[in-house]
Amino acid sequence: MNYDIAIIGLGPAGATAARLLDKKFKILAIDKKSDAEDSFRKPCGGLLATDAQKALSKFNLTLPKEILADPQIFAVKTIDSKQNLLRYYQRFYINLDRYKFDQWLVSLIPEHVEKADGARCMDIKRVEDGYDITYHRNKVERTITARHIIGADGAGSLVRKTLFPERKIAQYISIQEWFAEEHQTPFYSCIFDSDITDSYCWSISKDGFFILGGAFPTHVSKQRFDLLKEKLKQQGFALGNAVKREACLVSMPRGLRDFCVGKDNAFLIGEAAGFISPSSLEGISYAFNSAHKLADVFNSGDAHRVWKINLKLMPMKIKLLLKYLKSPFMYRPLLRKLIMKTGLNSIDVAGERK
Ligand SMILES: Cc1cc2nc3c(=O)[nH]c(=O)nc-3n(C[C@H](O)[C@H](O)[C@H](O)COP(=O)(O)OP(=O)(O)OC[C@H]3O[C@@H](n4cnc5c(N)ncnc54)[C@H](O)[C@@H]3O)c2cc1C
Repeated sequence: MNYDIAIIGLGPAGATAARLLDKKFKILAIDKKSDAEDSFRKPCGGLLATDAQKALSKFNLTLPKEILADPQIFAVKTIDSKQNLLRYYQRFYINLDRYKFDQWLVSLIPEHVEKADGARCMDIKRVEDGYDITYHRNKVERTITARHIIGADGAGSLVRKTLFPERKIAQYISIQEWFAEEHQTPFYSCIFDSDITDSYCWSISKDGFFILGGAFPTHVSKQRFDLLKEKLKQQGFALGNAVKREACLVSMPRGLRDFCVGKDNAFLIGEAAGFISPSSLEGISYAFNSAHKLADVFNSGDAHRVWKINLKLMPMKIKLLLKYLKSPFMYRPLLRKLIMKTGLNSIDVAGERK
């Protein structure tokens, strides 16, 4: 046995688990990301919601200013294109550079954890007393054995697909394009249009760029994204030539079975486990909190007691299911119209039409 624990993926979930696991464990933590210019970068809005801020405060972590993006915005322009409705809602997000944020989280991992960046996990096999894990790094293939494996490899999780193939979860394709910012006043927006998606679309001003994105049904994602751009141009959005396009899967938990925490010494955390809000697609806080809870169970020597892990994560599952139950108010046109028309919880923004 080479390692006690192998962590696959060092996004917010994996990096947090690697930071919090006790030094009594021999740990290997691998991620396909690296410092290289052409490294994988997680497509993300990079907005740190209040729940994620709360998790950071519980970790006693403070954000270095280099991670912050410009500007910080306190209102979200909410647009219902088809019903021609517009409202502003106050939000307390921190606007971040997501790649720098991930690299900062990795930099907090203590020395006793062996890290391999630029390492892509290719294969996982159950063997007696553990897992054989094969990864490619610098064009070299290596296989190690670990007693436990933690899949923190996000929505497209190889760990989940390989070890829990029966635990499928509904997924959308998320596409984002980056444009040079040409709007006079930077803004966030949240766009609903049932011709485009039954989820939602967004825009975010960040560091001189304007990011436009959305979550789309997988089989029509490109066409729908193009339609979104056309419609928004007609509504006055300044969208020149895109500087870059990025895409990835995003999970949509809709029932208890969508959350897969693991068994037989294989565990999942963060989005790999299905922990992401099905209404807002906010996932960083759930990545932090699921990693924290799993690390606690490991550190107390109870990792063989899967029921204990499930129990610890039950409040998170219930919270996410309640968000799913709440989502018709966002996603059903009639209910949304009702809420937006009443102006409930909305704010007036100087110089903007309602
Ligand atoms: C377009 C978009 C916008 C979003 N915006 C926001 C937002 O603004 N705020 C928010 O809170 N949430 C947002 N989310 C959700 C959020 O990004 C995720 O829920 C969160 O990143 C999940 O964290 P994680 O650590 O579980 O997984 P990830 O952040 O996806 O990290 C997985 C890690 O695993 C690595 N990896 C994957 N496969 C392998 C492999 N085979 N071998 C080695 N390494 C591997 C990747 O390099 C990555 O570092 C957004 C999601 C999308 C798709």
